Amino acid sequence: MSDPRRGIPSVDALLASSEFEPILKEFPRQLVVRVTRIVIEEIRNSLLAGEEDIEPDGLAYYARTVLIRLGQETMPSLRGVINATGVVLHTNLGRAPLAEVAADAMAAAARSYSNLEYDVELGKRGSRYDHCVKLLRELTGAEDAIVVNNNAAALVLVLNTTARGKGVAVSRGELVEIGGGFRIPEILERAGAFLVEVGSTNRTRLSDYEDSTKTGEVAAILKVHRSNFRITGFTEDAALASLADLANEKEIPLLHDLGSGLFIASDTLALPAEPLASDSLNAGADLVAVSGDKLLGGPQAGIILGNSELIDSLRQNPLCRALRVDKVTLAGLEATLQLYRDPAQALESIPTLRMLANTPEALGKRCEQLTAELKGLGVGSSIVESEGRVGGGTYPGVKLPGFALALDAPNSAEILAMHLRNGDPPVIARIVDKRVLIDLRTVLPGEENDLVRRVRQASNEGSGS
Ligand SMILES: *Cc1c(COP(=O)(O)O)cnc(C)c1O
Repeated sequence: MSDPRRGIPSVDALLASSEFEPILKEFPRQLVVRVTRIVIEEIRNSLLAGEEDIEPDGLAYYARTVLIRLGQETMPSLRGVINATGVVLHTNLGRAPLAEVAADAMAAAARSYSNLEYDVELGKRGSRYDHCVKLLRELTGAEDAIVVNNNAAALVLVLNTTARGKGVAVSRGELVEIGGGFRIPEILERAGAFLVEVGSTNRTRLSDYEDSTKTGEVAAILKVHRSNFRITGFTEDAALASLADLANEKEIPLLHDLGSGLFIASDTLALPAEPLASDSLNAGADLVAVSGDKLLGGPQAGIILGNSELIDSLRQNPLCRALRVDKVTLAGLEATLQLYRDPAQALESIPTLRMLANTPEALGKRCEQLTAELKGLGVGSSIVESEGRVGGGTYPGVKLPGFALALDAPNSAEILAMHLRNGDPPVIARIVDKRVLIDLRTVLPGEENDLVRRVRQASNEGSGS
């Protein structure tokens, strides 16, 4: 009996063949060599195991197999997906998609030199911390501002600067985990401060804070906005304004980790009231920290607003260098902030706000169009009521009313959802009551053609198996 492995061509023979010529034009030679070796090895092994009857239609078979593997090998790890979950600030899907002008500004900053740390007028060194400050002051009424890598970094910088080696008073009801292992007590400790717990989980009064300051070890009061959970029932909380008075009297700063970073009145979004940074500053907080990529709808960043003396001391902290923001982020943040000069424009141009403001009527209409289009392609679906979410650890429990498409699943919803995920671009959908829901709230303009193509493809794959 002849050994079937004898018929396997060598790597050299394959690379020299005309079938491999276009492959070598498209991909780096070393990569082609590596992948070809792997493919040959796999074919040899499966022939040896007698498990597969390969029909090598000559070298073309090898070329096809190598090409598929090269495609997988060179696919970027980070790539676009269609978010059909209806969760607007989906942390796992990269939070806020940016406004066109912000994305353009980031691309421009990435491509060229900039005045990142250069004063063009004076012809000498400038500071990266000057960018965005004017806009942030204008939009929030803050005396001064500084932008760092994210809000977690902002908190570390604020705590390390104001309370290194000293105590920070925090209510027991606010010793929270923000997500991704980010816990206030641990962050506080890593920032070089120690925690002075105040009050109880459900009730913390002004007098509790007052008591905590009596030993003299408390260097700051930290208020953490309950952005990702609610405490209801028998509760009590000290108002920010009364804490500001106390902090003033004790000559210690009042720090407010606000998190969500809403820059527009919440009633324009038909959402429950959520404090703005300006509210917090007006109530007397000395430093307020917010995220750039939550409700603000900008790039990942941490924005600290407040008292100029304190902001100045943040700038002087050597840690600031380790937490600093990059030029691409600054460009995107500035372009996003510009839009807020006209709230109507912000609402229209910032995808996060636009998606939050999406009405059930508008979503219903889009669903009708899509279900008709899919029907024409032989894919069945029905329109169902669906609740979107704000996400990103903001607005806990708040549901965004609307509609979604429930796709007919030939087999199970899980299999259909899997086929939706495994394609280009992946479509991430939600399964509710054993049905795959496509929530158009988070499907961006321009993504609908891809969505239809992928839904059709996934439905066919599902029915074929
Ligand atoms: C989200 C959040 C953070 C963390 O912000 P990042 O920008 O994700 O680092 C911190 N504090 C609060 C209250 C938050 O909501």
